[in-house]
Amino acid sequence: MPNNGASKPGEKLKQGRIAPANAEWIAEAGQMIRSGALVAFPTETVYGLGADATNGEAVARVFEAKGRPTFNPLIVHVLGLEQALIIGQFSPVARRLTEAFWPGPLTLVVPRSDTSDVSDLVSAGLPTVALRAPEHPVARALLVEAQRPLAAPSANRSGHVSATQAQHVAADLGEKAAVILDAGPTPHGMESTVLSVVGDTPTLLRPGAITVEAIEEVLGEHLARGDETSSTPASPGQLESHYAPRAKMRLNAFEWGPDDAVLAFGPVAEAPARAFINLSPSGDLVEAAAHLFAALRTLDASGAATIVATPIPKHGLGEAINDRLKRAAAPRD
Ligand code: AMP
Ligand code: MG
Repeated sequence: MPNNGASKPGEKLKQGRIAPANAEWIAEAGQMIRSGALVAFPTETVYGLGADATNGEAVARVFEAKGRPTFNPLIVHVLGLEQALIIGQFSPVARRLTEAFWPGPLTLVVPRSDTSDVSDLVSAGLPTVALRAPEHPVARALLVEAQRPLAAPSANRSGHVSATQAQHVAADLGEKAAVILDAGPTPHGMESTVLSVVGDTPTLLRPGAITVEAIEEVLGEHLARGDETSSTPASPGQLESHYAPRAKMRLNAFEWGPDDAVLAFGPVAEAPARAFINLSPSGDLVEAAAHLFAALRTLDASGAATIVATPIPKHGLGEAINDRLKRAAAPRD
């Protein structure tokens, strides 16, 4: 198998960070995940860029590595239904779908459960979470070693095509992954099918490796499409149901009153306010992204009529943070 890396952990990885997906490297990669690093790994669909889904800063680094200008929700990879039930709520029909297609390339969007310890950033503030149990032996072995659910979007830069070979990941993400586990080209080479099973009607959000026909056979009925129902997003850019605070938002401001809630960033002096959260006093955008969604909820829950946000730089993850704040501030009915 072609690979330009080291055959054992301890031997230094060459540029590109490609390593063979053997037991030693998978164990090492699991350790890297637990320490908050990113690991690229093969699944039966495409290569994924994985992070510990319970570690907000690790998840923030995924967005940073992909260079996404917005926070799109990420798919969480688990070993099976047992682990998935800690994170999401599965209706009878959702369970039936997991029995038919897991492990395999079917992603189910379900309501988050109260017991979920997955970072808010994974769901980009949505009350739902996308879960899938991959079939690829390397992905499964990594899940076992990491002992964590893995938040993993496709391992490519935002806007680029998905990577089906370790070399593609190396070319696209370079040194962003601590290691790229190489198991050759991925079997399907196509993304997972994404189904929403939040309401009563399962809805197709993204066509993929599992066909609509196969799903309809299990459901025994016609599958609704995301664009047929206005309440369900057809694509990430249309996620209108993104968490919107009840309070009004005032952006790029440095002044507030004692009744306002304040979302600060960097070395901002704390003045009297109804609630005050600094996303990162040291001005670290990764830390800020990790805390953004939880902070918005907490400030909103303070009961303040207005949330005042101090300016956040526009570079790196700042672009996605500003995009999110702009959406939260947009007028709505
Ligand atoms: P990728 O990042 O390429 O693995 O794609 C992930 C896909 O899953 C995107 O189309 C996301 O919009 C979709 N997705 C993930 N989580 C959710 C969610 N909670 N609700 C709706 N769609 C989701
Ligand atoms: Mg993708």
